[in-house]
Amino acid sequence: MSVVLNLNFMEKIIYVYWGIALVFTGIAIAFKLEKEHKPVLVSLLFAGFFITLYFILQIFEQRLQIVLTTLFVSIALVSFIVLLIPFRNKNHIKAGIVSARFDERDIMFSRNELNPGTKRFDDYYRRNPDKKTLDDKFREKPGLLSKKATKYHPFKFASAEANFMAVEAFVPYKKETLNKAKQKIDAQELSAYIKKWLKQIGTVNTGITELKDYHLYSHKGRGDEYGKEIHQSHTFAIAFTVEMDKEMLDMAPGAETIMESSQQYLHAGNIAVQLAVFIRNLGYSALPHFDGNYQVICPVVARDAGLGELGRMGLLMTPELGPRVRIGVVTTDIPLVVDEYHYEASVIDFCTSCKKCADNCPSRAIMFDNMQEIDGVIRWKINHEACFTYWNIVGTDCGKCIQVCPYAHPDNLLHNLVRKGIKNSYLFAQMALKMDDVFYGRKPDNKHYQSPLS
Ligand code: SF4
Ligand code: SF4
Repeated sequence: MSVVLNLNFMEKIIYVYWGIALVFTGIAIAFKLEKEHKPVLVSLLFAGFFITLYFILQIFEQRLQIVLTTLFVSIALVSFIVLLIPFRNKNHIKAGIVSARFDERDIMFSRNELNPGTKRFDDYYRRNPDKKTLDDKFREKPGLLSKKATKYHPFKFASAEANFMAVEAFVPYKKETLNKAKQKIDAQELSAYIKKWLKQIGTVNTGITELKDYHLYSHKGRGDEYGKEIHQSHTFAIAFTVEMDKEMLDMAPGAETIMESSQQYLHAGNIAVQLAVFIRNLGYSALPHFDGNYQVICPVVARDAGLGELGRMGLLMTPELGPRVRIGVVTTDIPLVVDEYHYEASVIDFCTSCKKCADNCPSRAIMFDNMQEIDGVIRWKINHEACFTYWNIVGTDCGKCIQVCPYAHPDNLLHNLVRKGIKNSYLFAQMALKMDDVFYGRKPDNKHYQSPLS
């Protein structure tokens, strides 16, 4: 020990390899706590590499050891500093905003509810003959939660079905009887209160936006109100996110995925109903939007409420958990303060380079290309028919794209430092992308994960 302490500074530099090995061991422990397997091994390999380097250098005379290590430390430091400089992507392609209204009758869930031989079915395909062949393909498959689906599990599918059925308990809350006097509201105070309250009851984040025309579907596509034009007098939309469990998503496209998504539809629906009833109790109108009962396009509302950007896979990419969230929305006329939407170029840049979701999508439904002009708007668009057909084969809502997304890692110090770096610098983002592939693999293998239910 005293020998080490008596060494001069330059002689001590050789111990930097042990320091780095210690850092990688710490990272391995962090991954272990996340129940990751491959990243633990990779971190330990890095740790082992630097320890080996230390011993290899022992072969050389001390002066050479110091020179080589100083060179290594200098390169590492310069690289680190360069990565912290906020470089922007000069070739950034700005994502556009779709401002045309979308008909809910065109979404896959609505098309899935059309029964051959009914007037609705005939009407729809008379107006959309191009969709008939595509839709016949998913109709040939076993179907969501079907016993014949490849990922069928009697208990897990029954749990998911129970969740979806429980969501139906919220339907009566769509109707409102406004029999309470309007209370005087301080918009600032109420907006802050709602955000704190929703956080306390289980949301990740909440944002408020003015309700815009394009947030609303043009026509109802499901249930008794099928085909009805949607008009909404509400002025604001409150959007919030709830987390989807990572361990359940790690089993994608297994039965755990649909268990978890249905669980979080239930969770988000519950909070939306609580919030709507709370607003009604203050004397104002409010409508909860929940699974199967949406008048709004949730990811678009959430983006405008400042909760994230729309990424390559078409889902909301949140700063904390990427796409590993479900969204709830309440529209209302109560006075509120809106959150400003700030375009986040770093997410679009990252998605442009990453393509990990596209690489792992079993149905090849996600674009590999850069954003394109689709119906006059620069964006990505997934092949909904291909995706939904796959869902009908496996019987679950797959979720492989969410599982592999580098933004979907846990909300903790390690990953948040990486997220900050990605936001700060395009160069850092490119490095993070490569490192994500090194640690997790370009195509993560599910055999490394264990179901929390096994
Ligand atoms: S996997 Fe990559 S490309 Fe796909 S949404 Fe996530 S960051 Fe974007
Ligand atoms: S849910 Fe599955 S099939 Fe659909 S886009 Fe994502 S990875 Fe592809």
